[in-house]
Amino acid sequence: MKAPLALYVHIPFCTAKCGYCDFNSYAHLDHLVPGYTAALLHELALWAPAARDHRVTTVFFGGGTPSLTSLDDMRAITAAIRERYELAPDAEWTLEANPGELTREHLEGLRALGLNRLSIGVQSLHDDELRLLDRIHSAERALEAVRAARAAGFDNLNLDFIFGLIDQPLARWQQTLERALELRPEHLSCYALTVEPGTALYYQVSKGQLPAPDPDVAADQYEWTRDRLDAAGYRQYEISNWALPGRECRHNLVYWRAEPYLGLGAGAHSFFAGQRFANIDAPNRYIEAVEASHAQRQATGGGTLQQIAGGETPDDAMRRADAMILGLRLLEGVSVAEFRERFGVTPEAAFSAAIERHRALGLLEQAGDRLRLTARGLLLANEVFVDLLPERSAAATGT
Ligand code: SF4
Repeated sequence: MKAPLALYVHIPFCTAKCGYCDFNSYAHLDHLVPGYTAALLHELALWAPAARDHRVTTVFFGGGTPSLTSLDDMRAITAAIRERYELAPDAEWTLEANPGELTREHLEGLRALGLNRLSIGVQSLHDDELRLLDRIHSAERALEAVRAARAAGFDNLNLDFIFGLIDQPLARWQQTLERALELRPEHLSCYALTVEPGTALYYQVSKGQLPAPDPDVAADQYEWTRDRLDAAGYRQYEISNWALPGRECRHNLVYWRAEPYLGLGAGAHSFFAGQRFANIDAPNRYIEAVEASHAQRQATGGGTLQQIAGGETPDDAMRRADAMILGLRLLEGVSVAEFRERFGVTPEAAFSAAIERHRALGLLEQAGDRLRLTARGLLLANEVFVDLLPERSAAATGT
């Protein structure tokens, strides 16, 4: 049985850059699109020999705005994946979409290409909040996009939302989520707004032009969200993700379970063959580097993959920290037996000081074989995670 592999394809282009966004995404780079698609096709070919012993179980087109990619380009990319990689027959194929540009015709084309899961960035169902976020669509446009996706045959939909917006009372978030529930998506991702360095929002907040989001309001909204979605039949399986039974995002579960994935495209990250690495962020430099790697491969049959910006082979301490930090994001938590099987040591032995401290603070708990965050721990997860980083846990244990 071949080892499973998740494939991520990054499309970095957007119509406009949202003020809060720190993803590797760019507006006004349309002139790069043809070269970028060609580079992706070459990168898929460059990696295919290394992935020969794997079977691809999930493919995820993320961005950026993958729904901006033309159907012709999507046809070429999906055909190259099918041709060069072995795919599980029930593979999950997800595409992230911006409701501002989705048409019924495009959605039907995507469905015909085998895309079977759509993740729509709705973010809010209030027009004033969407404007504050610099989104290019209205609430009505987002609802139309969901209806169009259903009509095109997508029966596995995720809707993305952001709560904890600046000056957003609880009732406004409740209205957004209630309207979303009327659409009965199979999956919901709800993230608290964060002000990331380097974004336009960060600049506005640091200059005092906008107030910072209020974390106490966001915490109230999060707790209400957990109760409301539970009552509506959604199971929370990760800090920010809820699904109807059996509709969890299989691709993202690969990340949280620290399983292998290969990222293609500008800035895409990979965890493959025991190594972590990332591609060059800038799309023009990524294209040049892939084409140089491709030319070298054609000429010599080998050579380095020049699009890789940097990487590392995680040592045991890093792999243990990864398994804990990623695994604790899941509500099921980390299996003590599996952890010991994998690393030859229990989580308690590897992270004794951090686990003891956060248990005492009521942020971590043991339930049977599993170590997991408590309800309070879900709110303060980053405080737990920071203590699990290798340098922190080494300092705390004096090693
Ligand atoms: S559409 Fe998405 S990826 Fe593009 S700028 Fe906005 S938030 Fe970022």
